[in-house]
Amino acid sequence: MKKVLLHICCGVCAFACINYLKEKGFYVEGFFYNPNISPHEEYLKRRDAANDVCGITSIKLNEGKYNSRDWDNICSVYRNEPEGGKRCNFCYDFRLAETFRVTIASGFDSFATTLSISPHKKSKIISDVGMAIAPEYFMAIDFKKNDGFKKTIALAKTYNIYRQNYCGCAYSIG
Ligand code: SF4
Repeated sequence: MKKVLLHICCGVCAFACINYLKEKGFYVEGFFYNPNISPHEEYLKRRDAANDVCGITSIKLNEGKYNSRDWDNICSVYRNEPEGGKRCNFCYDFRLAETFRVTIASGFDSFATTLSISPHKKSKIISDVGMAIAPEYFMAIDFKKNDGFKKTIALAKTYNIYRQNYCGCAYSIG
């Protein structure tokens, strides 16, 4: 069975993505790696929600480092960019590069990301970033297809999963 490491940005987005991959017959583990999230209390809320969803869907959740200073050193250069601009490209790259590193280090066959399920994010940009990192390992899935976002929101409501009201970094608040 092919082993997929799924980068998870939050519990709500994870639900339908995990189900999709499991229905396709993959062995899936989650990887919560989001040092972009600010403040740290918010990071913990999203991590705990991701953990809840992984428990409900019976997959293991791995947690990466909260190296927020490293993230900020790169992305703060673009602090004034609008959401969806250059800062986000670097943010996707930062998180997916680490997901790829863990994919190889832990013996997974492929990696994917829940980021593409959000209607606020362009799947093509996320795909381009993932493919630039590791074309032979990245699964460029647009999880928002076939009502993916609607499905994941419905599941999150059913299980009362915490849902945030901003993307994640301090520059996206307000
Ligand atoms: S708005 Fe979201 S995707 Fe863009 S840099 Fe901030 S946390 Fe990352």
